[in-house]
Amino acid sequence: MADTSTQKDALVTEITPQSQDFSAWYLDVVRRAELADYSPVKGCMVIRPYGYAIWELIQQALDARFKATGHVNAYFPLFIPESLLRREAEHVEGFAPQVAWVTRGGTEDLEERLVVRPTSEAIIGTMYAKWIQSWRDLPVLINQWANVVRWEKVTRPFLRTTEFLWQEGHTAHETEQEAEEETLRILALYKEFCETVLAMPVVDGRKSDSEKFAGASKTYSIEGLMGDGRALQAGTSHNLGQNFAKAFGIQFQGRDKVLQHAWTTSWGVSTRLIGGVIMTHGDDSGLILPPRVAPHQVVIVPIPRGNWQETVLPRAREIRDALVRAGVRVFLDDRDAYTPGWKFAEWEMRGVPVRLEIGPKDIEKRQVVLARRDTRAKVPTPTDGLEARVGALLEEIQDGLLARARAFRDDHTSAAANYDEFKAMMEGRPGFVMAPWCGSAECEALVKSETQATIRNIPFTAPTPAGPCVRCSEPAVATAWFAKAY
Ligand SMILES: [Zn+2]
Repeated sequence: MADTSTQKDALVTEITPQSQDFSAWYLDVVRRAELADYSPVKGCMVIRPYGYAIWELIQQALDARFKATGHVNAYFPLFIPESLLRREAEHVEGFAPQVAWVTRGGTEDLEERLVVRPTSEAIIGTMYAKWIQSWRDLPVLINQWANVVRWEKVTRPFLRTTEFLWQEGHTAHETEQEAEEETLRILALYKEFCETVLAMPVVDGRKSDSEKFAGASKTYSIEGLMGDGRALQAGTSHNLGQNFAKAFGIQFQGRDKVLQHAWTTSWGVSTRLIGGVIMTHGDDSGLILPPRVAPHQVVIVPIPRGNWQETVLPRAREIRDALVRAGVRVFLDDRDAYTPGWKFAEWEMRGVPVRLEIGPKDIEKRQVVLARRDTRAKVPTPTDGLEARVGALLEEIQDGLLARARAFRDDHTSAAANYDEFKAMMEGRPGFVMAPWCGSAECEALVKSETQATIRNIPFTAPTPAGPCVRCSEPAVATAWFAKAY
């Protein structure tokens, strides 16, 4: 038994330090914390129970928000006939290089090839054309929880995989203004969710034309800043204008009796958010989970002294039950095959917000010891009123993580007045760099090829440009946020 513990101890400490190689650190954490594993299919991941539990918490929190804003869930097929995907020209051009095809069913070649959905505008647009006849049928506010497939060359668990899980909202409206309001409502919902639930601060704004969704009129995004100074696009919301309505024939008779095309939107976030949580909060010891998405918010580790199974364990069970009744997600680690030291390291690495230690001496003193994952502070806490104290502590940790991530983001956001300064910033300590931009796709492409930085978005709160375009010195139209991105 002692041997097993020693071996496990060695395994748990095998995480590459962030400062040495952030990317290796990320992969170590994903594997060691048992969030995901590689699969026999290249580019696809298996989401393990601990990782999937995080996804379920994300789903629940988002789903409640979608429903509170009037949306309902439905499910559309995995396969899309080729002819449907081809209806919207920009859309097919944008997705064609990443599409997986089905050409055979059983022993027979298909008459028409099928696409495994990379996104569902085509199939959903086709159905909306059947369902929407009159202005009275609008708005249609449907969300789908689903998997999609995009054939990726370079993959990384959660951040970019060939198959991934997501939600895609698809709405249809009577007017252009309503569609724009919906697009922005969802973007604001995503932002509030990321900050409140994931403790991940994001910058909201509009994508440049070259970065927008294939077929959209306007794309908005939220962008987070990861621990290595790279940006992560955490969610997008698209105003599709009438482009898809025209391609799929979504027409209705208006209040004025005139036949017209609907205005549609689509929006999505994916399992990529789990990658965002890992890279926003984690440290050299592993994962740090914000309490609202932690599968175990508290892990109880009994200290095995004397006849602990008759003394400590029953008390630990009482505490667990009381915490569960108070609505806390708690796990009692009563495995006697592992030492407390091993358990401390294990749950720390797996990011559990609070560890609760209880031994014979604590029982005598009518207390437990609470250890925070984020600050590592250890505080003896009376068992009287423990549930309230734990609840407050989880809130404190949640708020503390957001504040810490926000401070990091602000600390890694700078403004560049000229291109030399800009290049120096991108080569030095990366982060967001705010710079004036003339609006030309050419300049944007040059910046990308010369520095690897892309325009993440043009933030809603961006200041008016302080000077000429950082690349070409022509008059600037906007202050854009640039960064190297995942
Ligand atoms: Zn320019």
